[in-house]
Amino acid sequence: MREILHVQGGQCGNQIGSKFWEVICDEHGIDPTGKHQAPADANDAAISDLQLERINVYYNEASGGRFVPRAVLMDLEPGTMDSIRSGPFGKVFRPDNFVFGQSGAGNNWAKGHYTEGAELIDSVLDVVRKEAENCDCLQGFQVCHSLGGGTGSGMGTLLISKIREEYPDRMMLTFSVFPSPKVSDTVVEPYNATLSVHQLVENADECMVLDNEALYDICFRTLKLTTPSFGDLNHLISATMSGVTCCLRFPGQLNSDLRKLAVNLIPFPRLHFFMVGFAPLTSRGSQQYVSLTVPELTQQMWDAKNMMCAADPRHGRYLTASAMFRGKMSTKEVDEQMINVQNKNSSYFVEWIPNNVKSSVCDIPPKNLKMACTFIGNSTSIQEMFRRVSEQFTAMFRRKAFLHWYTGEGMDEMEFTEAESNMNDLVAEYQQYQDATVEEDEEEYGEEGEEQVYEEQ
Ligand code: GDP
Repeated sequence: MREILHVQGGQCGNQIGSKFWEVICDEHGIDPTGKHQAPADANDAAISDLQLERINVYYNEASGGRFVPRAVLMDLEPGTMDSIRSGPFGKVFRPDNFVFGQSGAGNNWAKGHYTEGAELIDSVLDVVRKEAENCDCLQGFQVCHSLGGGTGSGMGTLLISKIREEYPDRMMLTFSVFPSPKVSDTVVEPYNATLSVHQLVENADECMVLDNEALYDICFRTLKLTTPSFGDLNHLISATMSGVTCCLRFPGQLNSDLRKLAVNLIPFPRLHFFMVGFAPLTSRGSQQYVSLTVPELTQQMWDAKNMMCAADPRHGRYLTASAMFRGKMSTKEVDEQMINVQNKNSSYFVEWIPNNVKSSVCDIPPKNLKMACTFIGNSTSIQEMFRRVSEQFTAMFRRKAFLHWYTGEGMDEMEFTEAESNMNDLVAEYQQYQDATVEEDEEEYGEEGEEQVYEEQ
């Protein structure tokens, strides 16, 4: 068995993480007491088997046939975790795996990473270690957090670096929520996010980007919600997280573990920030009215409006991409539709990685939908989002605004400068591969080839 260990930290991380568990418990037939309930309909022995075949990837099996999420919950204040504990699936988690402090991080990355968080981190690592030791063959970790606050962001990245130190050969996947002024009103979020990106570039293997700016726009423009709440944003996030992990949780071929997912999607190690998309987009409670065909799903899935990241893929090029369809449908039709999109839009895919788009079909659809599709793209256009955060960062940093909150926790200004340039480098690297063409390669390598032929003659 190849287990995954899930960690969620901070307010946002805990909120999206607990939604994720609600959704996947439902998909695997796990009720709030941890018992598996076989589906009621007739032909469902097969479904029941599918639900359980790879259940060990995310759940431990405890005595009495109870399934317990392999999840660690951490926070520097008790509030969010209290609500999870008393929520609908609160009892499904292992009580020892709630690790929390009382101090809070005050939206300050330095408190999460260097002071308050550093004090609590060993207790978190103890629980992580215990879970890891229980695994038959741990494939890796997934971390849910926001980058704009203090705990998920500062302490989350501290945990990621500690895990990397202790488990250097395991995979690290993150679900990282990027900040947007449209959703939040804390001015220092660009600082926290940039300091985090600096860490994620080095210490994470793959990052699923969930950008509050895009999530807000989807709610407002597409779903016509006039004042989107975190609940509305998190509904989109949990649908996407379920879709992204579907290939890890159910039997199938494509991207069936964290490493295969990484191998298919990451041509250069630093460029591991993925745009994710979902179709059909629905608001909370309205799924049952939406039903789409394979061509419609495919068309929506590639649409910039369906991306959970505020960047337009048409402003860049895809290095790689992967699509996971769910539900009963014809694989042949899926393949045709996908080829069709690539043929019609060939200029948006780098030609120097042949066959860079993969697709797969999983029989089990998400709840309340007949068919759905999740998209993961490694697009150079994601630099637009990094540029946005970088501009917000630089505007303040130029005047050293709010810096005393960080230096007061012992941080050096140097770390800000380094984080800023690391993120700018990342943007430049995306640009470099966006501009790279096969002709360029031929200019470089072609001549040499000719010379060699000449010499041999
Ligand atoms: P922490 O508890 O110190 O990690 O701080 P938060 O998680 O509250 O971080 C603040 C950032 O997370 C801001 O950018 C918020 O907009 C965002 N945020 C907080 N809660 C949620 C949530 O439930 N969903 C989403 N999508 N974003 C959130």
